[in-house]
Amino acid sequence: MLETLPLFINGKPEPAPPGTEFLTLEDPATGRPYAQVPLCGAAAVEQAVGAAQAAFAGWRATPVPERVRVLFRYRQILEAEADALAHIVAHDHGKTMADARGEVLRGMEVVEFACGMPSLMQGQTVSDVARGIDCHSVREPLGVCVGITPFNFPVMVPMWMYPIAIAAGNTFVLKPSERVPRAALRLAELFKEAGLPDGVFNVLHGAREAVDALLAHERVRAVSFVGSEPVARHIYRQAGAQGKRVQALSGAKNHLVVLPDAALEPTVEGIIGAAYGSAGERCMAVSVVVAVGESGDTLVEAIRERAAALQLGQGTHPDSEMGPLVSKAHKARVVGYIQQGEAEQARVVLDGRKHPLAQGEGNFVGPTLLDHVTPQMSVYQHEIFGPVLSVVRVRTLAEAVELINSNPYGNGTAVFTSDGAAAREFQRVVNVGMVGVNVPVPVPLAFFPFAGWKNSFFGDLHAHGKDGVAFYTETKVVSTRWFAGGAAGKNMTITLK
Ligand code: NAD
Repeated sequence: MLETLPLFINGKPEPAPPGTEFLTLEDPATGRPYAQVPLCGAAAVEQAVGAAQAAFAGWRATPVPERVRVLFRYRQILEAEADALAHIVAHDHGKTMADARGEVLRGMEVVEFACGMPSLMQGQTVSDVARGIDCHSVREPLGVCVGITPFNFPVMVPMWMYPIAIAAGNTFVLKPSERVPRAALRLAELFKEAGLPDGVFNVLHGAREAVDALLAHERVRAVSFVGSEPVARHIYRQAGAQGKRVQALSGAKNHLVVLPDAALEPTVEGIIGAAYGSAGERCMAVSVVVAVGESGDTLVEAIRERAAALQLGQGTHPDSEMGPLVSKAHKARVVGYIQQGEAEQARVVLDGRKHPLAQGEGNFVGPTLLDHVTPQMSVYQHEIFGPVLSVVRVRTLAEAVELINSNPYGNGTAVFTSDGAAAREFQRVVNVGMVGVNVPVPVPLAFFPFAGWKNSFFGDLHAHGKDGVAFYTETKVVSTRWFAGGAAGKNMTITLK
């Protein structure tokens, strides 16, 4: 009998409303079914948003130092539960335990950041903006905020959102990916254990129907989305048309540039982790290496050798360095791209389709390396989101920058070099929001924004950092005058006198 996952509404597990359909979840490493997740619609959305709305008045009236005390406790509980959470992620998503632990830690960093909310929410004051008049601004929470998250970071991406929203005094409804829904439930239970009042954080399962009902709900004030580009565009348009605040983080195609003077070993190690870590299912994964000048042949051979030695296996197995892809459908999509690359005359240096595990029941594809890829090929033009690394050869750094700047995405990029001036120039002229200099996956810490550009982000304020605080609060500006004897004179203008 498969476990049937509940929703988490008003501080407790709730069954999905009668008539709800279910999706069966399969272990990505074995194909074995392990749970059923409800695909909710408008009725459950009403329940979840209703609970969040009812909790809002009490939570916003809770002084901010008291609110963050709950987050301090949450931080401690998460630390104690980090391994158990990582195990859920490694099992359900397929990434390795080391990677899953890393994800939990990165999520906890956002809780730490949100614990600073009493300072982060501070407004500004100017005295005597006119005679006897002072002006100050305060940041107030919005109300019910919603998070819609992807499959590839079941813990970290939701935590980019709700700790900040909740510390700022909002209430929250999380709609996690229907492909990895269990971690979100555990995150909600642990938050309750830390003392969070009922209804402040709710988890609702589902896919498009649930999302569309959330976007249409008049009580929802703000929508944070992370996922693929077509859905990000849909969310941005729909939420915007309903007058909601929206931030939609989208797809990516990240390039890592290697200059001829780069130190070979750390460069190759960096590339291996960035391209094949989490089986390439990261929005900051490197999917294109741009080999500048003469470095190409040696580099490709060193990557091949290192990638071919990677140990594939179940995410929860301690020896695994790379796990399976999330679903059979996604495996078929990734394999399809390798086939297209081959048909378009990319040189298949390492073929993940031939890995022994790729023949079994799990969703494994081995590390794949394609050389002499050109910008016209489909493997270059699309986000593959799998362990497929393309190498594009160029003559100069300027050509590398032109290639990157012509790409419609602008999430992350990196340059590997020992030339400081070249690195500085790269960082200055490249049109990408997160840049690494000898750092292959430059994901910023929680006190900086996650700053994707171009088609990797639709919105104005990014996730976390001060942007996150601004996103989940609105500014009220108060002008004050006290009459100290004597009435003010008549003023028929808007000038403050
Ligand atoms: P996805 O777009 O399929 O799903 C994301 C969320 O949207 C899920 O909760 C899903 O239920 C919902 N959804 C799916 N289709 C929908 C529809 N038609 N209407 C409304 N909602 C819908 O993305 P995914 O496959 O889960 O995640 C992978 C994608 O996420 C990749 O493109 C990756 O680059 C991107 N991603 C981006 C970032 C970033 O920071 N920019 C971070 C992580 C992942």
